[in-house]
Amino acid sequence: MLGPSQAGWFVLSRLLAAILLGGVLGFSTGHTWLGIAFVLASYLGWELFNLYVFERWLSNRAFLDPPDAGGTWGSVVAQTVRLHRRKRFHKQRMAQLFRELRRSSASMPDGLMLLNTQLEILWFNRAAGQLLNLRRKLDFGLRVDNLLRQPELAQYLHGSQFSSPIVLQPQLAGDRWLSFQAVTYGRDQKLLLVRDVSRQAHVEAMRRDFVANASHELRSPLTVITGYLESFAADPALQDDLRPPLEEMRRQAQRMAGIVEDLLTLSQLEANEETVSGQPIDMVGLLTTLRKDALTRSYATRDIRINVESDARLLGDARQIESAFSNLVDNAAKYTSATGQITLRWWQDRSGGYFSVTDNGLGIPSEHIPRLTERFYRVDPGRSRATGGSGLGLAIVKHVLQRHDATLEIRSDEGRGSTFTCHFPLRRISAREIAA
Ligand code: ADP
Repeated sequence: MLGPSQAGWFVLSRLLAAILLGGVLGFSTGHTWLGIAFVLASYLGWELFNLYVFERWLSNRAFLDPPDAGGTWGSVVAQTVRLHRRKRFHKQRMAQLFRELRRSSASMPDGLMLLNTQLEILWFNRAAGQLLNLRRKLDFGLRVDNLLRQPELAQYLHGSQFSSPIVLQPQLAGDRWLSFQAVTYGRDQKLLLVRDVSRQAHVEAMRRDFVANASHELRSPLTVITGYLESFAADPALQDDLRPPLEEMRRQAQRMAGIVEDLLTLSQLEANEETVSGQPIDMVGLLTTLRKDALTRSYATRDIRINVESDARLLGDARQIESAFSNLVDNAAKYTSATGQITLRWWQDRSGGYFSVTDNGLGIPSEHIPRLTERFYRVDPGRSRATGGSGLGLAIVKHVLQRHDATLEIRSDEGRGSTFTCHFPLRRISAREIAA
């Protein structure tokens, strides 16, 4: 086969040879120009014929053998045949790969959906079709948020936080609980993974109900026991050697009552995961109340300061916020010596509002900090029990903050003290109305 430069030389030399031949023939007959013109016309005719044969073969490639041309035309035909073979090979490989992908995704138990930048459905596998009652082809091209009509899903898909899935019960899925997890790829296209989590949701609901019912059932007998223990302790006729064990029983019964109350609060918070809209909360009033309550605790330091640096109000559920903040203040009081100092602070910046509780108490070793908000997690179980802690306080704080779109930051130096900061986004604070 000829290379590109060789082919160029070959064509040029053949053309020159034809002109020379035409010139010689014409000269011998006395019509030089006519001879050259005749040979060039024959040459052009021959090339056009080759072109015609080549074009006919290209158009009917499937059932015609390649033309048996030599020289430049032979080289063009050979290269075309090779290109065609390569293209066919890749096409077959792609088709085979696509078939394999379709077959494997069809046998997957989880639903898969491909969405374009407008959240229109490009493709979904069999499981997604079954889980969401989608119709093949008919639902292609429709927007998934219009189809499923779940505001939470629309909000999730329009956002940019896809590290964890959201769990919903879409109407199209009947009474099934489905988890949706988006993965972005390419130019903001999305792969949506849909999983049936009804069983897990059911087990979770049973666990929640069990804890809520058990705590509820324990509340009344505990109230009776505490009541009797208190009247016994107050009885002047009680033998002196019975007083210490009775006092210990009363303390432990009160601790149990505290745990039961915290469990009930947690189950109420868990029963409704929706974020709360809320009323404006007067932070000066709230911080003053928190301080006053902390001062009534027998174990608390007398040095509790308030630092209100913003007159913005917090938008939230006043009862829940008070319970979360008082847990933080209570902890600071419990884990700070009676001569220590506690500061409650409220301020704001461009990214939102902050409430913090700082103490110069025991502090927390850094390895414990990531696990503090787990239920019943205690740094020092003995000390926590001695102070009457349930181990549920920070779990309650975390839940309340989650329901207010807020986060908890914990900084602590062992032996020097801790700062617990709640960060509320801008939409959670409002400027104080100016009194007319
Ligand atoms: P508890 O009822 O035991 O206080 P929490 O959930 O409120 O439970 O707190 C979990 C653990 O975190 C506590 O047991 C305690 O060890 C630690 N902790 C919380 N707040 C403080 C603080 N201000 N200073 C030191 N340790 C703290």
